[in-house]
Amino acid sequence: MGAQQVRERFTELYGAAPEGVWAAPGRVNLIGEHTDYNDGFVMPFALPHQVTAAVSRRTDGVLRLHSADVEGEVVELVLDGLAPGTDDDWTAYPAGVVWALREAGHPVTGADVHLASTVPTGAGLSSSAALEVVIALALDDLFGLDLPRWKLARLCQRAENVYVGAPTGIMDQTASACCEEGHALFLDTRDLSQRQIPFDLAAEGLRLLVVDTRVKHAHSGGEYGKRRAGCEKGAALLGVDALRDVAYDGLDAALEQLGSAEDAAEVRRLVRHIVTENRRVERVVELLTSGDVRAIGPVLTEGHASLRDDFRISCPELDLAVDTALAAGALGARMTGGGFGGSAIALAEASAVDTLTKAVEEAFAAAGHTAPRVFEAVPSPGARRLG
Ligand code: ADP
Ligand code: MG
Repeated sequence: MGAQQVRERFTELYGAAPEGVWAAPGRVNLIGEHTDYNDGFVMPFALPHQVTAAVSRRTDGVLRLHSADVEGEVVELVLDGLAPGTDDDWTAYPAGVVWALREAGHPVTGADVHLASTVPTGAGLSSSAALEVVIALALDDLFGLDLPRWKLARLCQRAENVYVGAPTGIMDQTASACCEEGHALFLDTRDLSQRQIPFDLAAEGLRLLVVDTRVKHAHSGGEYGKRRAGCEKGAALLGVDALRDVAYDGLDAALEQLGSAEDAAEVRRLVRHIVTENRRVERVVELLTSGDVRAIGPVLTEGHASLRDDFRISCPELDLAVDTALAAGALGARMTGGGFGGSAIALAEASAVDTLTKAVEEAFAAAGHTAPRVFEAVPSPGARRLG
């Protein structure tokens, strides 16, 4: 959605031009799945798909919200009345950000907001984080808060965890706030240290395809919570703060140590995924840094097998997307995001894109699945002011 269109609609709705327009992108996680609540490594990059928001300040303690993507009038909320668990509509995301900023002592006195998004929702591409981050950045600018990007991401995570009530890690918000064009973001979720890793696919003659299976995941639902609890249990049984602390070299010993625990088989599988996944992120960083982009393909595919067999969060549509992409010549493919639906990614030679897209579409049709949405993901800029 163009900045101009969002600006014009704001003016229609609120009777005056906005003070500014901001954008924040959705993301694809290249590798490092479910590691972010285990103090581990992740490696997302920003999509060209983004939430664009026109925003003006208010001084009367009122927040007015409108989304081009949701039917309905402007929603008006009173800042003093904002409280976690009081809103189960989309407005909880932006209201939660305002709540988190104010809770942290930042002088936000109200705002008018109109937004429009090109990030598919519930597709594992983090439309929720894009929505939070665009609001946080706009308010940071307008109220002169001057918070570092990582801190904005933390406040957005708090909005989603506490206000919305969805137990997500820090990756999505950090990706939307901190990614850079032509790079993937290597993020250590323990200390939030980050490195921009060159990831210029076009220069290598490569493409990264996203296959949105159109199967909706339910993130705040039970399965995510179960995996998270299982990982915490594994860490507790192993006597470490987080599974991040289990070294790859010490994996066999750790699995043996878990041998006699209750639910041992399940905890062992979860631990094995997290430990090997952290190692895969490090391998992808090494390969991209040394310029060997094609070599990350098998690492991505290995990651999918681990999510499917050990973490057990894939689904038939994701497996079909991955298997078909690989059979059609992809260099590597994996599900991405929380699991149980959402999207898969496939790394391929530019020349293979058409064949691959067709193969995936045909396989979905033959299996009787809803037609997937296949598009190219170009590593794009993170959140920024547009005007
Ligand atoms: P994901 O982040 O993977 O896309 P989530 O379930 O975490 O999926 O977040 C999707 C929710 O975010 C939507 O149900 C809606 O409440 C909110 N949302 C996302 N984009 C928009 C938008 N453009 N307008 C209004 N609400 C949105
Ligand atoms: Mg989300």
